[in-house]
Amino acid sequence: MKSALLVFATVLLLLVSFESAHSVTIYTSGKPGVFDFYLFVQQWIYSYCGSQTCIKSKEREAFTIHGLWPENNDGSYPSFCSGSSFNYNSISDLSTQLNYDWPSLTGPNTDFWTHEWSKHGTCSITGPITDIHDYFAAGIKLYDNYNITQALNSENIYPSDSETYNANDMFNAINTAFHAKPAMQCISGQLSTVAVCVDKNTLEAMDCPALSGWSCKGGISWPASD
Ligand code: 5GP
Repeated sequence: MKSALLVFATVLLLLVSFESAHSVTIYTSGKPGVFDFYLFVQQWIYSYCGSQTCIKSKEREAFTIHGLWPENNDGSYPSFCSGSSFNYNSISDLSTQLNYDWPSLTGPNTDFWTHEWSKHGTCSITGPITDIHDYFAAGIKLYDNYNITQALNSENIYPSDSETYNANDMFNAINTAFHAKPAMQCISGQLSTVAVCVDKNTLEAMDCPALSGWSCKGGISWPASD
């Protein structure tokens, strides 16, 4: 009995120290509104679906929204803040647009929105975002305002299964279009994700600071199929 208790206490201690170490490295406080700026993150469907099993009917040649994430200048971010839980009824008027702009490529859209709201949305309540409806409406508005495909096309950069582009040229095309330096991520040499950094008060694009884990270098592709 004594040794069972000892094992239980040790496991508990290990779990607690793992959790607190994890919290220190990844999360800051879970207080809504306490962060420096947003990352508005869009995923290129074909790059994402090249590394995941996606629902075929959801695939189209597009960037779609991954999320609107509160972020700090030092690379940490708050998550899973206290606040209201996901409530579909509060955003049902946005559903047509959300289904198109912010689909889950792998499962039910509402599961994805529930996750994004719980992890990132609950921490986003500040300035112009006062509730869940504002949060998802802001995603739709930013998606309209910051069209990555158009930005790249305007510098003659198009999706292709044969071309290789210089990552700097893609970065510069987006910077020119939005007057704001983006952050880019690649998977296996393919452009997979683009983040526009967004001012937390005005929801206008701003230069992204250097963010660890966000860089694509040299020749990369922008696939036209998965
Ligand atoms: P996040 O990166 O926002 O913390 O979490 C993404 C989570 O949402 C992952 O657990 C992933 O499995 C799930 N998810 C569901 N649909 C999608 C999708 O279309 N794209 C991405 N990136 N994640 C999705």
